[in-house]
Amino acid sequence: MSSQGTSSAIARRGLLFVLSSPSGAGKTTLSRQLLARESDMVMSVSVTTRKPRPGETDGKDYHFISRAQFDQMVKDGELLEYAEVFGNGYGTPIKPVNDWLAEGKDVLFDIDWQGTQQIHARMTDDLVRVFILPPSAEELRDRLVRRAQDAASVVAKRMAEASNEISHWAEYDYVLINDDLDQCDRSISKILDAERLRRHRRVGLDTFVKRLRKHL
Ligand code: 5GP
Repeated sequence: MSSQGTSSAIARRGLLFVLSSPSGAGKTTLSRQLLARESDMVMSVSVTTRKPRPGETDGKDYHFISRAQFDQMVKDGELLEYAEVFGNGYGTPIKPVNDWLAEGKDVLFDIDWQGTQQIHARMTDDLVRVFILPPSAEELRDRLVRRAQDAASVVAKRMAEASNEISHWAEYDYVLINDDLDQCDRSISKILDAERLRRHRRVGLDTFVKRLRKHL
């Protein structure tokens, strides 16, 4: 077996990979591309009280639930984190996350800064935080208008919220500027590869080194 083969066979703990950005910075496209090439990565599907947009599928993009259901999940401790965004409730169901981590899968989250702070408080060592910045205010506005899935008033509101979301950039481990989608995509891959190699995640290293030293 090659040395690379040996080292990649070492058991590793899954990680929690957060991508945050203001709406329209390209996060959804980047998430999709990441999931398409990473067989060991799964997407956390959030619950939300907002209405589905055209083309969104229940259970895939979000679990669309009522406010009463959302409040009950909060009360029952079923959410790893939750927040109010644009007047709607959003949250991450905790059970699938724990199941995936136990299976050694990496979990991708498209959540805002509030949720990221909460996961950081509960699961610091498992978390990798990436913030995506738009290249300019003009570009962000164009993307929101081009997407045109939301009413004009919603676009204006989201532009106003972008500044607030961006103010939390320094709470993230990595900050990328999405002026070139492919470049940004490559940077995300590099971050993921390096984070997977971190010593504390490679739980099989201890046994490997013990066996290695026995023969020295
Ligand atoms: P959208 O309505 O455009 O899908 O999402 C609006 C914002 O809510 C985005 O910034 C997205 O990252 C955030 N968001 C989506 N799901 C969750 C979640 O489960 N928790 C938190 N805290 N934010 C979320």
